[in-house]
Amino acid sequence: MGVQHEVYLDYNGSAPLDPRVAEAMLPVLLEGIGNASAVHRFGCRQAAAVDHAREQVAALVGGRSSDVVFTAGATEANNLALHGAVLAAPVDRPRILISAVEHASVRETAQWLSDQGIAKVDAIPVTRGGVVDPDAVGMMIDSDVLLVSVMAANSETGVLNPVAKISERVHAAGALFHCDATQMVGRLPFGLQESGADLVSMSGHKICGPGGVGALIGTRQSLRQLRPVIHGGGHERGLRSGSTNVAGTVGLGAAAEIAVEERNSEAERVSGLRDRMVAEIKERILDVYENGDSSRRLPNTASFQFAGADADAVVTQMDPIAVSTGSACSSGSIEPSAVLLAMGVSREAAYESVRFSLGRFTTDADIDAAVEGTVTAVDYVRAMSRENG
Ligand code: PMP
Repeated sequence: MGVQHEVYLDYNGSAPLDPRVAEAMLPVLLEGIGNASAVHRFGCRQAAAVDHAREQVAALVGGRSSDVVFTAGATEANNLALHGAVLAAPVDRPRILISAVEHASVRETAQWLSDQGIAKVDAIPVTRGGVVDPDAVGMMIDSDVLLVSVMAANSETGVLNPVAKISERVHAAGALFHCDATQMVGRLPFGLQESGADLVSMSGHKICGPGGVGALIGTRQSLRQLRPVIHGGGHERGLRSGSTNVAGTVGLGAAAEIAVEERNSEAERVSGLRDRMVAEIKERILDVYENGDSSRRLPNTASFQFAGADADAVVTQMDPIAVSTGSACSSGSIEPSAVLLAMGVSREAAYESVRFSLGRFTTDADIDAAVEGTVTAVDYVRAMSRENG
């Protein structure tokens, strides 16, 4: 057997670095010297590079460059949004609402704030399709709510939320609207104004930029309503101290600029590949179901349940085709995806669910190989589980 064709379909986990982004970063890595806060000429050159990146990142969501707070990724941006708002709250133990399908960095931050007794937290339920209904937000919100956090697009199912309608309900109650748009920006147009979001989180490695760098972008007014969670020299308008990761931010900026230029054509091409993959998998495999409302989702994502086939076994069997499960290892035992459970998917079906996420460098040949690999793996895992009774 020849060398097998490696296929990477885990873009929602981490997308590959675009070589054009690497090229933009290279001069900074090789020649950039000095702390971007230093006043000497070396520092000024670094600061100029960071300023340019700030403009590129602001443009991705139609924000102002002065309202971009660089962080070490979306996890940190989400922590800053929730924790920072609670720290600055004018009342004791404010109430915050988060959707039931948020990323762990929102969910666990909210849980921690609740456990510490510094905020009251309620989860907004989602529909069977994984969507947050603005009416559900309207019903739960009251004047005691400080902040509502609802993601733009779900990382596991790709399902899109009606964020503009949600933000209307949130603002009508006088609360802040935080939107984790990590999976959305760069894939579909998303603007601060159009979405009505006050605070938006994003991350480099989901948009073919570097990992370990991201941003919280806000409106001027909303950023004033935050306190820092990381203290030090007062960088990033006092909201996130720490010497700037210059090469990382330059990469984030370059990735954002490419995304603005290419997201529409990329969405069209990638959704074509995804739709063909979904059609072929459904045609060739029996008892396969899609998780999430497929009429409103990202162009690159599909989540399948292969009935009777354990997802971890399927993913292992599919090597060298990289796909993922939403299950997480907690305290030594594998827990099914919290997102799928919140949608009302049974534990059994959640254990049988596999996510495919495509992107910029996915080719037709990749999809051919992925379909073949999926058919073979699911057949094999089902046969083994029948044999083992
Ligand atoms: N939010 C969402 C929706 C995500 O998908 C991820 C990454 N899986 C994050 C936040 C965390 O991003 P980072 O890896 O930059 O911390």
